[in-house]
Amino acid sequence: PRLANQIAAGEVVERPASVVKELLENSLDAGATQLDIDVEQGGVRGIKIRDNGTGIEKEDLSLALSRHATSKIVTLDDLESVCTLGFRGEALASISSVSRLHLTSLAAGQQAAWRVEAEGKDMVTSVKPASHPQGTTIEARDLFFNTPARRKFLRTEKTEFNHLEEVVKRLALSRYDVGFRLNHNGKQIYDLRPVADQMHAEHRLATLLGRKFIENALTIDVEAAGLRLWGWIGLPTFSRSQADLQYFFVNGRVVRDKLVAHAVRQAYRDVLYNGRHPTFVLYLELDPATVDVNVHPTKHEVRFRDGRLVHDFLFSRIHKVLADVRP
Ligand code: ADP
Ligand code: MG
Repeated sequence: PRLANQIAAGEVVERPASVVKELLENSLDAGATQLDIDVEQGGVRGIKIRDNGTGIEKEDLSLALSRHATSKIVTLDDLESVCTLGFRGEALASISSVSRLHLTSLAAGQQAAWRVEAEGKDMVTSVKPASHPQGTTIEARDLFFNTPARRKFLRTEKTEFNHLEEVVKRLALSRYDVGFRLNHNGKQIYDLRPVADQMHAEHRLATLLGRKFIENALTIDVEAAGLRLWGWIGLPTFSRSQADLQYFFVNGRVVRDKLVAHAVRQAYRDVLYNGRHPTFVLYLELDPATVDVNVHPTKHEVRFRDGRLVHDFLFSRIHKVLADVRP
């Protein structure tokens, strides 16, 4: 309990998109290389995620649904060095407390798959035999069926689906080695195959961000002082629909950070005119010990040990790429 208290508690389930984010992060933490996502009515009616990860052992199945049950940290020291995406042990508990949840899994090395069902705060069945290939399927239905006050805050099907798709998009842009299949109301939205080499990810980028972006984008891959910056720098666009095409990842996690935003904007300044917007998909990699990626589930801020170094590196490298192509 002491450990649990020291880990910031917070409600992680706000809308279907947050459910999908937590479930996909769990699947990635479990080493999955293929993620199949099926949602109904923007995710409000149903979210089903199937992975081919390590699975969950029979005796851990119901435990996985209880609060502060995490297999990812054992001591407070682990907190300092977590590299898995989730570690607070509250996502599944939170999701199951506001939905009708089915959890089916076949753990690696086991012969039989097992399943548990929960409805709201109650476990409705004991652990039952099931049929499933190695990995886990989690189905959360009727989100907020038992909390009308929170259900009221849900937006239209289209809006909820857009949020949800954005979550999938960010993860798909952070893990090229993983396949992502997304269906909405039985219709396939996309089927992204794993990409062996990140720099050959154009197909995925075209699918997720549009052909126009990738056809006009400049590639970058530079390294200095322990920092590596790679990815795609789009040309500034007038298009309003592309104005939010700005993705920045630090050690694989998407961030929205002031220092980063400032450096990028400064670099674009000379080539930005008439209200054009920068567009980019960039990845910064650096020693994890020199950056603190905020672990709060909804914030995307980072703290760099040497902010000035990072700022100057980003600014100078992006500026150089843009200056080279400026007419
Ligand atoms: P956390 O991710 O913070 O540990 P969660 O509530 O998200 O907590 O998950 C609880 C536990 O359930 C995880 O620690 C993990 O052991 C197990 N788990 C959840 N989803 C999966 C999955 N898709 N594959 C394997 N194990 C899983
Ligand atoms: Mg988790």
